[in-house]
Amino acid sequence: YTSEQRGSTAKEYVQSVYKKVIQRNPNEYEFHQAIKEILDSLVPVFAKHPHYVKQGILERLVEPERMVTFRIPWVDDMGVIHVNRGFRVQFNSALGPYKGGLRFHPSVNASIIKFLGFEQIFKNALTGQPIGGGKGGADFDPKGKSDNEIMRFTQSFMTELYKYIGPDTDVPAGDIGVGAREIGYMFGQYKRIRGGYEAGVLTGKGIVYGGSLARKEATGYGCVYFANEMLKSKGLNFRNAKVVVSGSGNVSIYAIEKAQQLGARVVACSDSNGYIYDPCGIDLNTLKRLKEVERKRISEYASEHLQAVYVEGCSGIWSIPCDIALPCATQNEIDEASAQLLVANGVTAISEGANMPSTLKAIEVFLSNGILFGPAKAANAGGVAVSALEMAQNNMRLSWSFEEVDAKLHVIMQNIYDHSVDAAKEYGAEGNLVTGANIAGFLRVADAMMAQGIV
Ligand code: GLU
Repeated sequence: YTSEQRGSTAKEYVQSVYKKVIQRNPNEYEFHQAIKEILDSLVPVFAKHPHYVKQGILERLVEPERMVTFRIPWVDDMGVIHVNRGFRVQFNSALGPYKGGLRFHPSVNASIIKFLGFEQIFKNALTGQPIGGGKGGADFDPKGKSDNEIMRFTQSFMTELYKYIGPDTDVPAGDIGVGAREIGYMFGQYKRIRGGYEAGVLTGKGIVYGGSLARKEATGYGCVYFANEMLKSKGLNFRNAKVVVSGSGNVSIYAIEKAQQLGARVVACSDSNGYIYDPCGIDLNTLKRLKEVERKRISEYASEHLQAVYVEGCSGIWSIPCDIALPCATQNEIDEASAQLLVANGVTAISEGANMPSTLKAIEVFLSNGILFGPAKAANAGGVAVSALEMAQNNMRLSWSFEEVDAKLHVIMQNIYDHSVDAAKEYGAEGNLVTGANIAGFLRVADAMMAQGIV
């Protein structure tokens, strides 16, 4: 075969696998989108290494090892009974125990959990840590629930989930709607059912009972460290840069904190109802109090800071001119039109803190305009990387200092960047970190799968 023939054969092969995924998982659009993004990047890998095709690596990768769906009954404060649906996808365990967060949000369904679980395989591989890929959650809406309702729901969730997890099999953590409070309730329930202290079964725990310092900050800090590496390659940095960060949860808050520490002016952030624009730069103390302590909406910020404005609807945030955009809210929050607006307004770099925040069309817009683009599975890998460090500390029964963990996180993010750049170059897509990250992550998983036989 000539290399051209091999290229077209590889393309046909990838397309045939994609078709099978669609047939087998009808109407799961987010899952299809995540699969398509990866598969398109892998064509040059299959053209160069046909042995992966022979071993059916791709066919095996796109099918989860296991997916459980379960009933979560719970009683609200008025005595009314509710039923939610819970999920855990154990996607791939070639590199280590399944690892990935739990999301509590009304939009959660099989498609969302599978897209997140699939992404997680490659993200986790990129961290270089010994963790496989998984994800879970429930279609439960934590908004407006009392603390007791959250506890009862979370305990009911764990009463079913505990059967499938363990420190060496599957280690969940937080995601949207699941933070330190929920992890605490889940850990308590797991411990009670198991009758033993298995600290490594969950990550994102409180510091006093086995959590890691810098875990809370890790996803946001990591996203900024990654952006900083991209900027460095062009002789740029965060100093005096105007930054827009979407979301106002854990990822956003610590992305804002690190960007500010590096000298940036962060002018906007959002929640699912709208966004705030503060020309003086977001006051982080107010934001932390409103979101972490009082659990209030972002609109409150504008009533406390009169120079700030609150605007209903969250996609408008992308019309604010900025140098650096950090989408840290949720999937598909930047569509093609928003991407075009960002480019027209002169954006230099995008670093994705959320999972799959840009649509495939939006990514195309960024790449074809030569914008520095850090894809989610590379740029937001800092959270799960520090989760793996939390597991390591739990196994050793010791805890590292904040500075130690942060320094390790920084090195991990630099390595992810370097490996993605190198893989892109090696496979003919220089400067394209989407392709680079996908290939670098894939190669680690694929080689482990090859070594372990057809399982
Ligand atoms: N939910 C985070 C993610 O999307 C963290 C997962 C973890 O720490 O296991 O990667």
